[in-house]
Amino acid sequence: MLNPFRSLTIRLTSLLVAMVAMSILVMAGLGYTTVDRVGERSAQSRIDHAARVAAALVNTRQPHRFEVRLDSEGRPLALVLSDGTGEAMLEPQQGDAALLSIIAEANQGAASFYRLREATGEFERYATTLRDSQGKPTPAWSFGPAHPAYGALVSGTVHVGQVPMMGRLRLAYFVPVLANEARVVGAMSVDIGWVDDLVAPRDSLRKAIGLWSAVLLLVVASLGAFIQMLELRPLRAIARFSHRFVSGEPERQVPGRGRKDEIGDVAEGLGRVIALQSDLERLAFSDPLTGLGNRTRHFADLKALLDEGTPAIVLLLDLDRFKEANDAYGQSAGDELLMRARDLILGELEEGDRLSRLGGDDFAIISPGTADEKTAQALARRLMARLSVPLQLPQGEVYSGCSIGIALLPRHATTTEEAHRKVELALREAKARENGPCVLFHEALNEAVQNRAKLARLLRQAIENDELTLQMQPQIDLRSGRLYGFEALARWTHTTLGPISPAEFIPVAEANGLIPALGQRVLEKACALARQWRDAKFDFGRISINVSTIELGQPNYVSGVREALARHGIEGECLCIEVTESVFLQQDEADVTALFRSLRGLGLRLSLDDFGTGYSSLGYLNRLPLDELKIDRAFVQSVDQDPRKRNLLAGILAVGKALDLTMVAEGAETEAELAVLRALDCGVAQGYVIGRPVSPLMAPIEGERLCGAFRGAKTGAPSQVPAMTRVA
Ligand code: C2E
Ligand code: MG
Ligand code: MG
Repeated sequence: MLNPFRSLTIRLTSLLVAMVAMSILVMAGLGYTTVDRVGERSAQSRIDHAARVAAALVNTRQPHRFEVRLDSEGRPLALVLSDGTGEAMLEPQQGDAALLSIIAEANQGAASFYRLREATGEFERYATTLRDSQGKPTPAWSFGPAHPAYGALVSGTVHVGQVPMMGRLRLAYFVPVLANEARVVGAMSVDIGWVDDLVAPRDSLRKAIGLWSAVLLLVVASLGAFIQMLELRPLRAIARFSHRFVSGEPERQVPGRGRKDEIGDVAEGLGRVIALQSDLERLAFSDPLTGLGNRTRHFADLKALLDEGTPAIVLLLDLDRFKEANDAYGQSAGDELLMRARDLILGELEEGDRLSRLGGDDFAIISPGTADEKTAQALARRLMARLSVPLQLPQGEVYSGCSIGIALLPRHATTTEEAHRKVELALREAKARENGPCVLFHEALNEAVQNRAKLARLLRQAIENDELTLQMQPQIDLRSGRLYGFEALARWTHTTLGPISPAEFIPVAEANGLIPALGQRVLEKACALARQWRDAKFDFGRISINVSTIELGQPNYVSGVREALARHGIEGECLCIEVTESVFLQQDEADVTALFRSLRGLGLRLSLDDFGTGYSSLGYLNRLPLDELKIDRAFVQSVDQDPRKRNLLAGILAVGKALDLTMVAEGAETEAELAVLRALDCGVAQGYVIGRPVSPLMAPIEGERLCGAFRGAKTGAPSQVPAMTRVA
């Protein structure tokens, strides 16, 4: 049930009515008692007056008969018979009626004489002016001990008060009549009329007070309620406004704003809260740097479109060289680049299209109204063209370029999550492609992701079950023709999927947190093999193991290596660690230097793998404690047929020589390539022309044979390479 006291109007009115009622009751009570007291006092003074009048009249009319005894204020205390003997009785006399009627008239009441009958002990009225309701003389009457005046009279004192008479009450003054000092012989009474007649004006005054109090209360209550309703109306308007605002109705001016009272204050406060809320909302949905919508805004927009069923094109755009710009020119250049990219993108959008920045260099575009593939691709191409020009920033020129993933709604997704996942897949694919930085989502991408997830699952099991093996690829010292070492390459053959290339499973291991466990297995196997070969007196040189940058980032990597060496009782010199140039990108130079120093402290050699393909800085090469550079296969392939490539290779080798590093050329596949390497005085070579990766069991045999073959080759004898390649 609705509680009426929830209403402020009702509560305040009730309070007001209660307070007014209380004051009226107090006032009325005071009025009542005052009226009572005044009535009583006036009755008292009238009866006193009547007694004095009676005393005076008795004194003047019958002085011979009575001696009137008075108190200090002239009120009669007793009428004493003047007889003097003390034996006299109060007997009716001729002038009694006249005396009583003068007294009664003077007092506008009645007067009576009583004599005390000794036989009965009662006061018997023998003369009176009292008449009944019809005006007839009242019959003889006497009163005894039950009468309120009786006790006082028989003891010779006056009685003043209400006395019963003919079924009603009269206010009377009884004076005893004494024969001498002590003997009571009768009484005289004077009265001023019927009590109920006397109090009638007082009662009507009381009634009037009650009535007017009630009327006043009613008037105050209704007036109070009305005024409050009137006064609280703006407050109710504010309450209605708040409800509407909360239920999402468009914002309007808060009612009551500008008033100079408390309601104005409330409205002002509410106005500020609303302003704050919209500020917060704006902040929550916008990107502070570019002023575009943020990730939350983008997802909210996507959801709204999907809920409405509106077809839309969704583009995810990633700047290709944002990080480089940031690294090269600092964060302010990165910020500037983002703003320029924003402006360029906005220049290609049409009305209704929405651009948000999801974070970093990721922009999302929603173009509602169409989900046409060609339109989407045309838009993506226009955006790519816009962003493929060099941008002049205050800090320098930046050529950013971009990759774009495209998804069409609702064709590709029905939920925001799915839409975003698919457009991200398309973008990832676009980034992975060399030439074609715009990819429309297609199911194969999804399958590829599913396959990668499956592969990760299988790989985890394979690592746990120690199913991965190593193959050893020999490296030859080109100057001496001796075996220089072996590179340990991980191999995984799945029971149903068959052999899986490390180029495929290593990135999966890296992306799924499996690389530390995988690396640990490889390290263990390499150490065990080194120990086994050393014990067998096989001079294998060193075993190179590939270590992912993620592995190097593990806090306990160095101690893990130290423990492995100790466990297998081998020296650090047996191992060489190959890291790629990505180590410079992902880790702080000081950390990398400290790490390399620690590894070198264990006696290990350090090699920079795939040199030339990644992020190269000659400064790093100079500062870092490296032993070896592995020149990527790309620089070796067909080097014999391309003079420019040959020059490049010569340059790289010169750099290595200047830095006093051992240069290892990877991927030499032909004799001609090997001849160029020799001619350019490259220290070490590795490649199919020398030997393919072989099982650890075959490696010593392979090593022995290679030594002979290359010593021969060094002296100019025909190469044995074709025979060796058959071994692999
Ligand atoms: P990488 O360290 O540059 O290894 C050399 C790769 O080139 C090996 O491929 C090897 O088989 C291949 N190769 C050697 N000579 C020739 C040649 O003459 N011609 C051609 N076309 N290829 C040649 P693989 O074994 O498939 O390994 C690929 C990559 O996987 C490796 O590149 C390395 O980065 C990574 N990898 C392999 N094993 C491990 C490992 O145990 N741990 C880590 N973290 N990465 C590994
Ligand atoms: Mg390697
Ligand atoms: Mg390599």
